[in-house]
Amino acid sequence: MTEHLSHYSEYEARTKAIETLLYERGIVNPDAVDRIVQYYESDLGPLNGAKVVARTWVDSAYRDWVARDATAAMASLGYAGEQAHQITAVFNDSKTHHVVVCTLCSCYPWPVLGLPPAWYKSMEYRSRVVADPRGVLRRDFDLDIPDDVDVRVWDSSSEIRYIVIPERPAGTEGWTEEQLITLVTRDAMIGVKKALTPREVAA
Ligand code: FE
Repeated sequence: MTEHLSHYSEYEARTKAIETLLYERGIVNPDAVDRIVQYYESDLGPLNGAKVVARTWVDSAYRDWVARDATAAMASLGYAGEQAHQITAVFNDSKTHHVVVCTLCSCYPWPVLGLPPAWYKSMEYRSRVVADPRGVLRRDFDLDIPDDVDVRVWDSSSEIRYIVIPERPAGTEGWTEEQLITLVTRDAMIGVKKALTPREVAA
């Protein structure tokens, strides 16, 4: 046992051993575990959010729905569940730039963005982005927000989570929804970046 687990770390080996026992004793069904792992690895992630954003760019009725009730509008595409009981969408435009944080911990809209990146959970981001959002965006994310654009910081909680709908980049007139999806990154939906430009995505 010990020998064939030797390529695992101590914690991995312990986890494997517990997992094997749970399977052998019929306490846990391996298929159920596989489904949960698959859900976190591939069904849940920023591609879902990118589809929502691209849809808001091409379909004004859908955009209105997202503005009114993002939770329901996203659930209509199949993005609902854990950590998404209430999602609010905030829309970037030429006057306002929105950025999202969870000052208390790491609340995040899982079904549309997946699991939060490490920096989102860091004490540094959580404290500094509230005190100096422009500085954090400039220094940490290379994003310069002009002085005549307001920066608004939204504090996620277990009750309400936010997704930023970035502005549709210039030069994408006539693009299909599928093409537009490729411009929408996780960071743009947290508000620490803008959507990619056609030039950036080609590079
Ligand atoms: Fe939190």
